Amino acid sequence: NFVSAVVPPGEIGIRFEDIGALEEIKKTLNELVILPMRRPELFSHGNLLRPCKGILLFGPPGTGKTLLAKALATEAGVNFISITGSTMTSKWFGDAEKLTKALFSFASKLAPVIIFVDEVDSLLGARGGGSEHEATRRMRNEFMAAWDGLRSKDSQRILILGATNRPFDLDDAVIRRLPRRIYVDLPDGANRLKILKVILAHEHLKSGFSFEKLADETEGYSGSDLKNLCVAAAYRPVQELLEDERKDYGNNEAPVLRPLDLGDFVQSK
Ligand code: ATP
Repeated sequence: NFVSAVVPPGEIGIRFEDIGALEEIKKTLNELVILPMRRPELFSHGNLLRPCKGILLFGPPGTGKTLLAKALATEAGVNFISITGSTMTSKWFGDAEKLTKALFSFASKLAPVIIFVDEVDSLLGARGGGSEHEATRRMRNEFMAAWDGLRSKDSQRILILGATNRPFDLDDAVIRRLPRRIYVDLPDGANRLKILKVILAHEHLKSGFSFEKLADETEGYSGSDLKNLCVAAAYRPVQELLEDERKDYGNNEAPVLRPLDLGDFVQSK
């Protein structure tokens, strides 16, 4: 119970195609992670090509970092362990050494595996001088020691994937261990359009609905904001149907769910 999730490949249920936009990032992750994990023999000759051991995804909240991590595990066909920095520093209080060792020995057994560390800044943030909590400091040192101590065989089959909204808070030693850093930006209009197409792929939309118009009107929205907007709008037909049912005084026709109308849900950011 010291990790928030352990999921075998095939059970995550998220693939790259479920993520709108972010094509360049998917391509980079394919080269850095998927190929070496699927075809390790291609990376075991010479010194130039080595599987990447640590990647940092950074950028504003809700831009799809967690989604990318999960889809990456699916696409690479590897196990997925997810831990959250802030939960670890609060829950693991006092047991840092034991639990860190347990995490890494567990990961070695599950390898090939991606260990996703969300809010990596909480766990591996910069040294906070005298004010820093002793337990946090111990936790970070234990984590980095266990990470460095992975046997070389395991280190090629265990990828640490960190995510943060606060990259400048990370300790230099941690940054060095995450040699590939990928910025996950807020989507522009064209990318909001792609994300909306993914989010609304299976919805019954009101006739005349324009994806382009909605993408234009949602300047500043993250993927998560777009999803929340669509979910909020999807409730309205349900409420209307319940209302229709209440008003239906013996009419023969059963009320039907109206198509999704997103028109008046947008609030400018
Ligand atoms: P945080 O930094 O706050 O942890 P995050 O970058 O990890 O956020 P996610 O948790 O991956 O963001 O995204 C939240 C939700 O937003 C996703 O579960 C998904 O529903 C939606 N979402 C975000 N980006 C996209 C995208 N590019 N395509 C489709 N859905 C998206």
